Amino acid sequence: MNSVIYPALNIDMKKLKTNLQIVSGAVRNAGCSVMIVTKSFCADPEIVKMLVESPAVDYLADSRIANIKSYAGRGKETVLLRLPQFCEIEDTVRYADISFNSEIETLRLLDGEAKKQNKIHKAVLMIDLGDLREGLYCSGGAGILSTIKETLTMKNICLYGIGANLTCYGAIIPKNENLSILSGWARRIENTFGVKLAMVSGGNSSSYYLAEKGGLPAGINNLRLGEVFILGNDTAYGNHIEGTYADAITLDAQIIELQTKRSLPEGEVGMDAFGEKPVYVDRGMMSRAILAAGRQDIDASGMTPIEPAINVLGASSDHLILDVSGSKKDYHIGDIIRFKLNYGSVLHAFTSSYVSRRYV
Ligand SMILES: *Cc1c(COP(=O)(O)O)cnc(C)c1O
Repeated sequence: MNSVIYPALNIDMKKLKTNLQIVSGAVRNAGCSVMIVTKSFCADPEIVKMLVESPAVDYLADSRIANIKSYAGRGKETVLLRLPQFCEIEDTVRYADISFNSEIETLRLLDGEAKKQNKIHKAVLMIDLGDLREGLYCSGGAGILSTIKETLTMKNICLYGIGANLTCYGAIIPKNENLSILSGWARRIENTFGVKLAMVSGGNSSSYYLAEKGGLPAGINNLRLGEVFILGNDTAYGNHIEGTYADAITLDAQIIELQTKRSLPEGEVGMDAFGEKPVYVDRGMMSRAILAAGRQDIDASGMTPIEPAINVLGASSDHLILDVSGSKKDYHIGDIIRFKLNYGSVLHAFTSSYVSRRYV
């Protein structure tokens, strides 16, 4: 009866291209190369094809080697963003031209493996500017210099540069001040060891706003862009980037039940399917739609119905429950409801093998 399997992602390639043009243009104007991060869309082959063909992209990067493997050798330099696990040293050298590192032990293994594969592997050393995720602690100092010193002795490792990641864990906002610590380290390393660093990578989408207003410190020459490309979000302050589309990727789900029920469940309230104790507001009787999509497919907290009169009430593993009482539309079983997605929900939907993809 119908050919689309729901839930379905709608992927608007034209809108994504526009997003790419706008954000890569601003980043290039700020003197930076463009690294597009493919993890939020699990390196979707159609989106990757567009990126591989685009001159706006210098590097393709992911935290997962399986995603990198899917586009290695297709013309863009590939970057493993997450520090390599011991179990993926061989694949890192095989499929990633560059990897981000902070552990000398891992670098030694990469060096040994690169020798075996007869390759020179490029390493970017991560420096922690205070967000407290990966990187050598910048206020330590000695650890950075000793790691660089040994890395420079490795025959099959090329010290390609340094980088920092902010906002992802500690929610620390990139500023000229903290990124200047990074560019300062680049100068110090170059002067101390007489080397030239090809890359000084100044962060992710949260650094975009600095590039846009010309506020990046001199010496930062690369940014890594995920969310700002997919959703047009400056993730430092949550502003929408002018001209970009927040709805290049939307999700459709199908109504499987539509009934008038109370807004308050009946009986003693215990734990829900996820061990949480729900809280309800009594809104009397309401028209409730159940959609065939659940936590295995989506993150309901990050979904906004395109029709503003619809409210998301919650989700269990396989069901999404909506209040459609406020809608003027006359919904029926089988109808499709469309949602805008936030970053977490995009990630979730692309990761689920139960969610199909449509390209427009
Ligand atoms: C995920 C990730 C990015 C991309 O982050 P966005 O906020 O989506 O731009 C960049 N760098 C590293 C190290 C990452 O892990």
